Amino acid sequence: MKTAFFNTKPYEQRFFDAANREQHHELNYLAPRLDADTAPIAAGHEAVCLFVNDDASRPVVDRLAEAGVRVLALRSAGFNHVDVEAAKGHGMAVCRVPAYSPHGVAEHAIALMLALNRRTYRAYARVRERNFALEGLMGFEMYGRTAGVVGTGKIGAAAARILLGFGCRVLAYDKHPGDDLRDAGVEFVDLDTLLRESQIVTLHCPLTEETHHLIDAERFKAMRDGVMLVNTSRGALVDAEAAVDALKSGKLGHLGLDVYEEEDNLFFEDRSSDILEDDTFARLLTFPNVLVTGHQAFFTQEALEQIAAVTLDNLTRLEAGEACDNVL
Ligand code: NAD
Repeated sequence: MKTAFFNTKPYEQRFFDAANREQHHELNYLAPRLDADTAPIAAGHEAVCLFVNDDASRPVVDRLAEAGVRVLALRSAGFNHVDVEAAKGHGMAVCRVPAYSPHGVAEHAIALMLALNRRTYRAYARVRERNFALEGLMGFEMYGRTAGVVGTGKIGAAAARILLGFGCRVLAYDKHPGDDLRDAGVEFVDLDTLLRESQIVTLHCPLTEETHHLIDAERFKAMRDGVMLVNTSRGALVDAEAAVDALKSGKLGHLGLDVYEEEDNLFFEDRSSDILEDDTFARLLTFPNVLVTGHQAFFTQEALEQIAAVTLDNLTRLEAGEACDNVL
């Protein structure tokens, strides 16, 4: 299928080229991100391939429809950046990659926990300066701690199993608790109990209207003093301004973020020469107990192979008029 591939990065192009040796789509790699201004570039393409920081809101989808596009192929699992109803209204199919290496994201959440706990990011900088003082580096043992997992789908379940392996008591909250995890030793509780009892909280539920600012000022108050919060799911699950207040008061003892509410015009690019305009984000970076990564939890070789293979397979099925389970 002739596909306008927006927002291309060299590291993903090589995986798509490799996967396309078997699929034979016409992939037109484009540097610009998809938005209302760039949408007309898609004219003459049947499909558009987009990433999480592309804009597929209604006005953009309308323009893509005018340009003749009939498939939106998301190279991501999350689809909160896409107006699926608008696309359906134009008879456009929207397909995604529902799961890619959930272990990679779970492992990154755990990496944030361990780095925050033992302050390895600070130790790294110190030792390079031959500063071997231990002041400020004291951590705690994961063994025996209570960890709360919010959302126990593919990624949350993988995180819960790793935490069980550390010897943590693992609490979980999900609208659809799974028997497998319960059998493995996870205790399903309501969200209030999870927040009240957990020393570590890790978020793995999707961003929906219901989960927007799931962790807000009230919820921070309900958490244990000095709690560690890790968010590798979607930025807007956490009210960032409330997080700053909770850090200032000491309520929040550690914060690990791979995602940020206003990341769209920030992440995935080198902005080292730019003035940071987001004051909340700038404030977060000043805390010694905050560790931010730029939406890299998914970024493993295995995930990129799976994303490329599944995205191109989705296009192949839609082109052939075959059933495709990954259509929204
Ligand atoms: P999934 O669909 O397998 O699991 C999501 C779970 O959340 C489900 O069990 C669902 O029942 C539960 N859930 C839904 N609404 C809830 C609510 N209101 N409260 C509690 N639980 C709720 O998804 P997944 O593959 O595990 O991915 C989870 C999230 O991780 C995705 O939505 C995506 O936003 C994020 N993600 C981030 C990255 C990254 O690189 N940082 C990569 C992939 C996915």
